[in-house]
Amino acid sequence: MEQNLGGQNRLVQITTAPATANNHDDQNSVPELNIPVLSERQILQKKAYIGFRKIIGFFYTKHSYGATRRWILAKVLPDRILYRWKPYQRGGCNRCGLCCKIVFRCPFFHEDQNTTACMIYTSPRHAPPPCVVFPIDPIDLAEVQREVSPAPCPFYFEGQPEHPTTWGAVKADIRAQLGKRVDKLKEAFGS
Ligand code: SF4
Ligand code: SF4
Repeated sequence: MEQNLGGQNRLVQITTAPATANNHDDQNSVPELNIPVLSERQILQKKAYIGFRKIIGFFYTKHSYGATRRWILAKVLPDRILYRWKPYQRGGCNRCGLCCKIVFRCPFFHEDQNTTACMIYTSPRHAPPPCVVFPIDPIDLAEVQREVSPAPCPFYFEGQPEHPTTWGAVKADIRAQLGKRVDKLKEAFGS
């Protein structure tokens, strides 16, 4: 949910959390959650910082490769391929926040004595696709589980889609789309 308040975006987490005391009058926070309010400019600056950290991460951490894979897949794959593992996804997020602190602490991560939250997760404009779609597939999940280990990330998969690998799913999708076009051409020419 995002509300525009005087040019600023009030950004809240995806699920509700216990309200904190004495924060309802704070003009710089979401009332129930005490999450800082960020201007558009601050959000873009923080995103630029994240991009910078991910790029330099290529020189010293495997996580940058996993994060980049997640970002590219989330950006380029059509939903029918991107979400093919979702019917088989089990478990859930326990809000430990560890995946937001791999290698560096994400500047959108909020933590207080009551809860953890992402400042932009539910923003229609700024929600980070790689974080929203996680876990895309077992490779994606294993990458984060390795990074947060020995703490658990309780997601797991039960069963698998018809085309488990991304490349297999892309090839099958291309074949299906081509098949539809051929059928349309046959129909058009009455053969
Ligand atoms: S590591 Fe897993 S359980 Fe912890 S916040 Fe991230 S997704 Fe949720
Ligand atoms: S979910 Fe939010 S806080 Fe966590 S890594 Fe993604 S953008 Fe950062």
